Amino acid sequence: MRIIFLFVVFFCNLLVYAQFKVIFSSRTFHPNSETDTLNTLKAIEDFEIEQLDWMYCDSKIKLNKLTEKNIPFSLAINPMIPDSSGYCTAKFRVLDIEGKPIVAPWMKNWSNKNLFWGCANNKDFYELFLSKCKKYADLKCYGIFVDDAKMNFQFADKNGCFCDKCLEEFSSYLLNKKSIDNKFNYKEYILNTKRDTFFDKKYSLEFQQFQKKSVIDFHLKWMDELKKYTNNKIKFVTNNYGGNWGEIYSLFDIGLAEINEKNNSLEIIEKISDKLKINKKEQYLSFASTNSYDNFKFILHSYFNNIVCILPWDHVLNESFGDNKIKRYYANIEEIKPIFDFLKNSNLKECDTLILKDQLKRIKYKETIKYIKLFEDSENYYLSLYNDLNNDKKIKLKVLNHKLKYSLILSDVFKTKLISKKKISGTIILLKFQK
Ligand SMILES: [Zn+2]
Repeated sequence: MRIIFLFVVFFCNLLVYAQFKVIFSSRTFHPNSETDTLNTLKAIEDFEIEQLDWMYCDSKIKLNKLTEKNIPFSLAINPMIPDSSGYCTAKFRVLDIEGKPIVAPWMKNWSNKNLFWGCANNKDFYELFLSKCKKYADLKCYGIFVDDAKMNFQFADKNGCFCDKCLEEFSSYLLNKKSIDNKFNYKEYILNTKRDTFFDKKYSLEFQQFQKKSVIDFHLKWMDELKKYTNNKIKFVTNNYGGNWGEIYSLFDIGLAEINEKNNSLEIIEKISDKLKINKKEQYLSFASTNSYDNFKFILHSYFNNIVCILPWDHVLNESFGDNKIKRYYANIEEIKPIFDFLKNSNLKECDTLILKDQLKRIKYKETIKYIKLFEDSENYYLSLYNDLNNDKKIKLKVLNHKLKYSLILSDVFKTKLISKKKISGTIILLKFQK
């Protein structure tokens, strides 16, 4: 059994101001019914929210309340906008090879059955989409949030959309590239050819590429029209799952990536952060769990990597994906507010941790301490550590010439387990010291 002693001496040089913005998402403007006990405006006050993203709302009266409070907001749109019938009528939508509208696999058990996605090559759907975006712009949103921006390309496993418009456009696309019969119809070709999958046949990869290009052209066109309509005063936001900045997501200014439980690790968040250094996009991350420890871990890892994390309120719980019943999470103010207050404290400055790291290197910190950050304000020092220890390791931390004033998170774990020399495992520690 290994016992590790950390002797930490503070020699702080000021580096940079730590930055933190408190953003949250309210998927609808609560209360959204007479029985809804949630309240978006109250949550904005309670959590001192600075920005709101990913909200489905087109009520001028409600949104004016956000404008009065100077809260920038993005409004959400997705490929399931109902047409004039009030439903996602098949003639506007992505169709499979049998001509049936497709439902996204994760939506199959949703109680709402109106879930068919618009086709990027359908001109009527385009007009529907554009007019909704213009309506949102009139409501003074700072950005349009496109939920599920991959559209047709999301169904690449079914080879894409087989509506008449897609088939017609694909024939022209192929004609420009190679010599084919000008009566070529890809659907007929597929139906009349023996195949095991779509992908063992000629043209199938080209059809997929064409579907992706159609989605890119769709987005470029409405974005261009909206820029003109708003005199360039609009941003484009999307949910880029896992921090993906592929060809479709790269058309957007800001990505909001939902992190699942498996990806809630420092390594994954560091990888997302590394991509941003290259492409200079703005990235937000969101995660919610009923396990407070997992929430804290996520918030700190995002912060360490200078990525904005969305305050977990009105967020789909990761745990709910398993049984297909959507459960939403609403952060408890006593639990979440202190850490957000700590991180956005404008007096907080990040200190030089090189000396700390020198100390830690000698005791193989790389094996034990995954991340360490030191901050100071006028009176106090704050030290945050994240370790991922196995059960056969112990950690003891000693800070010279400083008194421990309080530990903000997991204080019991720290005090009882450390002082009594019991094991601590996978712990985040955030401590406040005074000289
Ligand atoms: Zn189509």
